[in-house]
Amino acid sequence: MNTNDLRELSELHSAHNYHPLPIVIAEAEGAWVIDVEGRRYLDMLAAYSAVNFGHRHPRLVEAAKRQLDRVTLVSRAFDHDQFGLFVTELAELAGKDMVLPMNSGAEAVETALKTARKWGYEVKGVPAEQANIITFEGNFHGRTTTIVSFSTDPDARNSYGPFTPGFRTVPYGDAEALRAAVDENTVGVLIEPIQGEAGVNVPPSGFLTAVREICTEAGALMLADEIQSGLGRTGTTFAVEHENVVPDVYILGKALGGGIMPISAVVADQEVLGVFKPGQHGSTFGGNPLACAIAREVIAILKTGEFQERSRTLGAHLHERLGALPAERVREVRGRGLWAGVELNGKARPVSERLMERGVLAKETHETTLRLAPPLMIDKSDLDWALDHLEAVLAEL
Ligand SMILES: *Cc1c(COP(=O)(O)O)cnc(C)c1O
Repeated sequence: MNTNDLRELSELHSAHNYHPLPIVIAEAEGAWVIDVEGRRYLDMLAAYSAVNFGHRHPRLVEAAKRQLDRVTLVSRAFDHDQFGLFVTELAELAGKDMVLPMNSGAEAVETALKTARKWGYEVKGVPAEQANIITFEGNFHGRTTTIVSFSTDPDARNSYGPFTPGFRTVPYGDAEALRAAVDENTVGVLIEPIQGEAGVNVPPSGFLTAVREICTEAGALMLADEIQSGLGRTGTTFAVEHENVVPDVYILGKALGGGIMPISAVVADQEVLGVFKPGQHGSTFGGNPLACAIAREVIAILKTGEFQERSRTLGAHLHERLGALPAERVREVRGRGLWAGVELNGKARPVSERLMERGVLAKETHETTLRLAPPLMIDKSDLDWALDHLEAVLAEL
């Protein structure tokens, strides 16, 4: 079937909770995808960082195939031979000692919130039902009813109440507002080290350090949502490393599954994750053999540091070129490593549509921001080719 027929089926029979570009992808390899008409496009989004290592990375496909021929699902009722190795290797990568695996990012965030509350009541000694957790304006942590309860994006939140209580929201980047919001019943501060969905917002220098200090003083857990910023995207394994900050809890997802299987995780020390006893939390698919085998290969790839290094060097080049775009078209460029939010002086949708016509896939976030997050294995010449097209499109409009 051709693009129009397939688009019509999606339009008629899927809920309209997305507004995709009018392209129907059939195949992909590395940084490139091919649509049903055989046209090639450079992927400058990488599934919001879930495809950090490129589409169908040979090592990851090989790990998946090997595991498909062994065992794929046993549930957590039984242990399997990938599980102990996966949790050990991920804990080591993060410098912590325990892992709680889930599937989607939102589930990992929910798990971190439950962890913080349970830890608050059982370890910190907060009176029953009194725990509060601080979040930031512009946050994006997923789509569950509890998570949208503290969203400040009307599209994400409106018509989904009644909302979960127990959250306070302060401006992102404002350490004094955070200091004023914490009290003796604060059990956690949930933070994206760089806000992805909000438009790749990098906080002021020193902010993550201040958050760490405030959490320590208040006896609250620093919960770093590194689902999009982590696993190489910003040029380091975790984005908190840019300020040498160590959170109490890492929340991971997206790239952990190598673009093949959804797998997410909460990673923390025993005194935090040790609060869970059998039956108190769980997931049928969380930590399944197939996802663990793939994630183990992801961790092995990350341990070489090769992708972090590529993100650093190519990211510097990306930001140099974006910084040279004409000021009458581009108001601001934010980001770190191979990750950028390009704030335009007009709507971003026509830019992503025109880029698509030229064979470059990028996506707007909100009205005026173009988000660039190519696979970290992208060739420098391909990156330059995409940036040439961006320059041309901006000159056209
Ligand atoms: C994508 C994302 C999530 C949610 O992940 P899902 O797998 O879509 O549920 C949570 N936090 C951040 C920072 C994200 O970018």
